[in-house]
Amino acid sequence: DVNDLEDLLHSIDGRGYGGYKRLAGSFALPGCRVAVDHVQADPYAPPALVRVMVDADQAGLPDDLVDDRAGRVATADFLTRGLVDALRSHRDVSIGQVGQEVLERTHVVILPDRLEARLQVQLPAAGRRVKGRQAFRILSEDLPDIADLLLHHNLDAARLRTHVALCRDQEALRGRLAGLGLVAFVADGSVLPRRSGDSDLPLDEAVPFTSPESLRVDVDLPSGRRLTGMGVPEGVTVIVGGGYHGKSTLLRALERGVHPHIGGDGREWVVTRPDAVAVRAEDGRSVTGTDISAFIADLPSGTRTERFSTTNASGSTSQAANLAEAVEAGASALLIDEDTSATNFMIRDERMRRLIPADREPITPFVDRVRPLRRERGVSTVLVAGGSGAFFDVADHVIAMERYLPCDVTARAREIAGIAAPAETQEAVFEPTPERIPARGCLPPAGRRRPARARGTDTIQIDRQIIDLSALSQLVDPAQTAAIARVLDRISELLDGTIGIVEATARIDELIDAEGLDALSGFRGHPGFLARPRTFEIGAALNRYRDLRLR
Ligand code: ADP
Ligand code: MG
Repeated sequence: DVNDLEDLLHSIDGRGYGGYKRLAGSFALPGCRVAVDHVQADPYAPPALVRVMVDADQAGLPDDLVDDRAGRVATADFLTRGLVDALRSHRDVSIGQVGQEVLERTHVVILPDRLEARLQVQLPAAGRRVKGRQAFRILSEDLPDIADLLLHHNLDAARLRTHVALCRDQEALRGRLAGLGLVAFVADGSVLPRRSGDSDLPLDEAVPFTSPESLRVDVDLPSGRRLTGMGVPEGVTVIVGGGYHGKSTLLRALERGVHPHIGGDGREWVVTRPDAVAVRAEDGRSVTGTDISAFIADLPSGTRTERFSTTNASGSTSQAANLAEAVEAGASALLIDEDTSATNFMIRDERMRRLIPADREPITPFVDRVRPLRRERGVSTVLVAGGSGAFFDVADHVIAMERYLPCDVTARAREIAGIAAPAETQEAVFEPTPERIPARGCLPPAGRRRPARARGTDTIQIDRQIIDLSALSQLVDPAQTAAIARVLDRISELLDGTIGIVEATARIDELIDAEGLDALSGFRGHPGFLARPRTFEIGAALNRYRDLRLR
């Protein structure tokens, strides 16, 4: 208890920093229990990992807020945000950072018997010596304060309720989009642009979103709230408009709309199907055995493209691979921006078709494949294309952004294209492809290498190899990347040479559903700061692993 803790810290005060090792374990403090799961080895090592626990009956969270997953995720998110705020300027104790998205996280967890906050504690040192008195203050005063904060929701009951209702509404709407025949919904009044390129906060003086009448839909939500906004229908939707009129901003909001957002973000009612995947060019990436034959065939080198591999993809082959892998992984909608696309992947104009006959051009551009993709695979596309009218011929809907406001220009675009409706071709181009099954051992099990390390949102290091995730715009939080690193450590046991990439990621998702994100750490205790990634981003990390080999 407290006295033992005081005695212990007193006895190591002024001694070598290694004395802190004796803190490992758990102890009771007034009002909470504390577990020290990892003690930092020296003052410059990563901080100690500490959990603060409060009994469920003491915590007294209202049952109706935590009786479903969305409710528990939202409630834990609310408590996490409270702690992040409270600890922002604390020198020694931290709970990491959170962004605008509400994600399932390990920072605060709601368990049947207790509430638990996971913290990092910088154990104080003078040079390389233990500062026992200060350590005692942190552990015996600051941690119980944090436990108190976990109970503060009582004072904030109305805000907590609002937060949970908001997240449940968003999740309910996301789940209903497919039934409504929509890829996404953008409510009137939404604020899409961000404050700056390096801030995810809403732009102050933004033009609020207003839906065009022809695409306007009303939705009723579980809380009783009713929203009006633009429904982005299934099929092929092309967003056009002059430069700087807000096209990419709309698309980016749709990309992010696969995750719920906090109140006041401006995008809380931009809701996209959970299986919509952003696809861009990413030259330089490695590709292992991906079937890109629907887009690229007959390479001059004679390389087969039904099982295409390269260590250094071009703009067009990388985009073809990204697209094929998204479809393989079960995406029901693709989000594509001209700004980040390879032009020769997207279109080829008449003159070029005349100069270079099809039999000497390996690439069949996306404009010729977007409808077969929809017809054969049921995959919708939302595409920003301000630079070419080529997509008028294949679009179900054309939306023009004008001074940040959408209007439906489908009829006029068809008039210009001289068509009444998009024409369907009948040839089958998206042949079913066999699953890609990693060869056993190509990703060494975690025991035989250092654990994978995540840095920021964009990189994971496995041994000497860097996996570059910067092209994954829907990977939004460093804690998601950290979770993918943990997955890469766990997934090697699954990859026994009989299981495909898609199936392996699905099993990880089931594991998280059944046992929570904590299960990824393979350790009972503080799992680090993890947030749930989608299966798409997990698969994308595997696909970019340069030593991936297929059976
Ligand atoms: P485009 O892709 O059409 O060229 P962007 O989406 O990149 O245009 O937007 C151009 C600029 O306009 C960006 O700086 C963006 O933040 C700003 N912007 C976008 N939408 C709005 C809006 N609704 N209100 C105010 N500014 C906006
Ligand atoms: Mg743009």
